[in-house]
Amino acid sequence: MDNDKQKLIIITAPSGSGKTTIVNLLLKHFPQLTFSISACTRAPRAGEVNGVQYYFISTDEFIEKIKNQEFAEYEMVYEGKYYGTLKSELQAIWNTEKFPLVDIDVFGAMRIKKYYQQNALSIFIKAPSIEELEKRLKNRGTDTEQSIQERIAKANNELSYIHHFDKIVVNDVLHTAVDECANYIKEFLNQ
Ligand code: 5GP
Repeated sequence: MDNDKQKLIIITAPSGSGKTTIVNLLLKHFPQLTFSISACTRAPRAGEVNGVQYYFISTDEFIEKIKNQEFAEYEMVYEGKYYGTLKSELQAIWNTEKFPLVDIDVFGAMRIKKYYQQNALSIFIKAPSIEELEKRLKNRGTDTEQSIQERIAKANNELSYIHHFDKIVVNDVLHTAVDECANYIKEFLNQ
């Protein structure tokens, strides 16, 4: 497949910005996009299956893959837990004549954009404000007060890198944010 067909879409966001919902709606909307399954070293959660949400591998295996340069990017997203995009995963998707959609953290997103440059479209999803983000994290009901404060501090740090991204989408009204992403993706894939 020639190189300009090897395009990919990168979606990133601080925790609580509604990224997962947007990613799932975009995957429904674009049959030509395939979710890129990352490798990670955290344990599967209840209901998660190896090779569906992630390739769950050991830290030793992950480090071996780093040494063998098998990752397009990888990060220690949480203390001691690695996550990475396998070059082989992206290639397998391109081999089916589809485009990978990668849903990764802000720093991994900057790395992979640097690697694929103009063949990658990077979109940063942002909550309308830090106050709104805090409200959403509280409403989600899955985090302790301490974890919420940690996520907000992390979000503030991540927001300071927003200018590294090709497109910024504010997730205030969900369907508007999805439409905006869809328009950017359509434009990028057709160019
Ligand atoms: P979780 O453990 O909740 O599934 O994911 C935690 C975070 O890791 C999310 O922000 C997700 O976007 C990010 N993530 C998932 N896969 C990758 C990856 O391959 N590389 C990087 N850098 N981050 C990832």
